[in-house]
Amino acid sequence: MIEKCQLAASEISALEVLNNSTISEAVTQMGSLKVTRMIVTDQSGMIIYDTQPDRIGTYGLFPEIVVAMRDRGNDVFSWWYHYRDGAMQSHAATPLLSYGNLIGCVYIMEHDTTQGAMIESLQRTVLQVTLILELAVILFSFTFSKTFSRRLQQIMTSMRIIRDGDYTHKVNMGGHDELTFLGDEFNDLTERLNTSEQKRQRFISDASHELKTPLASIKLLTDSILQNDMDLVTIREFVGDIGDEAERLNRITSKMLSLTKADIDIAADSEIIYMGPTLERVARMVSSLAQQSNIDIALNLEQDSPVLILEDDLYQIAFNLAENGIKYNVPNGKLSISLRRTDDNAILQITDTGVGIPEDAIGHIFERFFRVDKARSRASGGSGLGLAIVRAIVLRNRGDISVESVVGQGTTFTVSFPVFDTEVDPE
Ligand code: ADP
Repeated sequence: MIEKCQLAASEISALEVLNNSTISEAVTQMGSLKVTRMIVTDQSGMIIYDTQPDRIGTYGLFPEIVVAMRDRGNDVFSWWYHYRDGAMQSHAATPLLSYGNLIGCVYIMEHDTTQGAMIESLQRTVLQVTLILELAVILFSFTFSKTFSRRLQQIMTSMRIIRDGDYTHKVNMGGHDELTFLGDEFNDLTERLNTSEQKRQRFISDASHELKTPLASIKLLTDSILQNDMDLVTIREFVGDIGDEAERLNRITSKMLSLTKADIDIAADSEIIYMGPTLERVARMVSSLAQQSNIDIALNLEQDSPVLILEDDLYQIAFNLAENGIKYNVPNGKLSISLRRTDDNAILQITDTGVGIPEDAIGHIFERFFRVDKARSRASGGSGLGLAIVRAIVLRNRGDISVESVVGQGTTFTVSFPVFDTEVDPE
């Protein structure tokens, strides 16, 4: 289009005189330019040639002509699309120059219905594709939100089931997205709830069983006193027994309390201490009990090292183990309390020469209310809670506990804690 305009401009600017007839002649010589309209103006914008002759003599100040004449030498091209008749209209203007002077302007216009139709069909296709895409987006969002809310609903239902007490319930989300992750976390949580619920129930049933025994004894003893004619001595004996049972109830409940406390985090109150002095104190405290059965206590605290621990906890651990070592010992037996260290650990060992623990019982020894010989344990005031408490306290102080035993020979409890070596100042 712009080439056509330039061709016409170069032919016309070569004319000596610019008027309607000279330009008409030049246009005829150029042959068919196949344009809808062609206009030539003088330098003032007045039309001197027009394919629509009625406009000659008027000013043809079309935007393209104005710009082409203003910017001298610059060709101007523009097009727009007529929506109403589906045609594309393009315009081009080229200034006419003679020895560098502006003498007029050539303007041509094309009205192309073929290209217009093409653009129109392209537009229609784009519109159709856009509509289809929009529809797909709406459909996709709808399906997605439907699936999303269904899966969310699934989690909510599971929550309600758990809230109603069914801790075995599991949610099955499927897929590989955040909701699946949420479902896994949820299952993990309910699993833990289930475990702690089972522990709680076992504790309650164990505890009530343990409490029932002394209560039943008390009931029996009181019934006997009330129903039988007894002399004062027997009555006193029975009342003494009731007192013993009440004492046992007291011991069980206070041990249950300390077991609950053993679960509380104590990290903040821990301090770095040497274990020796505490173990000496424990040995002193159990010595009178040991004397009753003529048991010899040996202390070997040579390899003492600093550990991060709560002093009261260490006392309770050592006291319980030493007390058991005496309770389950044989007359004239031995109890040894020793300390040594490996590279990283301080090792406390409490060994006795007592009855020992049978192999099938050793795996249960740290369980609450577990007793190998119920009669013997009860006779010595045991509740089966001591070792469970010891283990809980050892663990909360970052330690470890193990047991080795040979029936008829004796038992060794080994407790280890990480050593906390403090920097030694060279001065
Ligand atoms: P109890 O209050 O009955 O002593 P513990 O939890 O301290 O409870 O101990 C549990 C059981 O482990 C005891 O009843 C006893 O049968 C056994 N036991 C613990 N320590 C020893 C030991 N040093 N030698 C033999 N048996 C032991």
